[in-house]
Amino acid sequence: MRTPVIAGNWKLFKNLSETRELLQELAPRVAGVSGVEIIVAPVFTALTTAVQAAMGTTIRVAAQDCFWEEEGAFTGEVAPGLLKDAGCSHVIIGHSERRQYFGETDATVNRKIKAACAAGLTVLFCVGETLAEREAGTTFTVIETQLRTGLAGVTAADLQRLIIAYEPVWAIGTGKTASNEQAQEVHARIRTLLVSLYDQAAADALRILYGGSVKPENIRGLMGQQDIDGALVGGASLKADSFAAIVRFQ
Ligand code: 13P
Repeated sequence: MRTPVIAGNWKLFKNLSETRELLQELAPRVAGVSGVEIIVAPVFTALTTAVQAAMGTTIRVAAQDCFWEEEGAFTGEVAPGLLKDAGCSHVIIGHSERRQYFGETDATVNRKIKAACAAGLTVLFCVGETLAEREAGTTFTVIETQLRTGLAGVTAADLQRLIIAYEPVWAIGTGKTASNEQAQEVHARIRTLLVSLYDQAAADALRILYGGSVKPENIRGLMGQQDIDGALVGGASLKADSFAAIVRFQ
């Protein structure tokens, strides 16, 4: 059985006091929830604050990106080992906003995934097609390339440190969720590809999250799909009530 994961990507929102406040509000609302991994991803400057605020709870802290080198003359970058040092357990890699605005490519995503695994972080590896790609009928070709390149050289042992997040770009922040069937179709194809890249057992064990306008109103339908193992939540993770309702989908 795959343990569900509900992760909140806070993007570029929440300063230090807001981070503390949101976690203080969230903690009692998700206390007692078992069998669900809960993750929040604040901005870099709020990571240690979030780690402290989450102490004694089951909430884990992720960074939203990392670099692939551990140290050196790389002004402005943050190494995976430093995230670990700051108390993070997870890191998001390859989010579509990084691909769209910051020149992230499948090749850089691949380097980051390997470095993050080596540092002992669990990676939330994001893939997803744009609206133009979906309309052109290339959804799965695009995702297959993202996966094949992103996972090049990622060992079966490293794969155990991976969670995949399928986030159709057209569903992010638009209020347009993929239908349960649209999401399930892609998730199933991702899992089939993983069988060919690794093996059945590895593919069966890997969690595949859906992301894109997930809300308390649509989480149950999504989680009812066979290959949907959780959610990566943007907007609705910024309020304790809505994020807690998503965590408590069962
Ligand atoms: P929204 O939930 O705001 O659509 O964002 C999804 C997302 O990008 C999570 O990483």
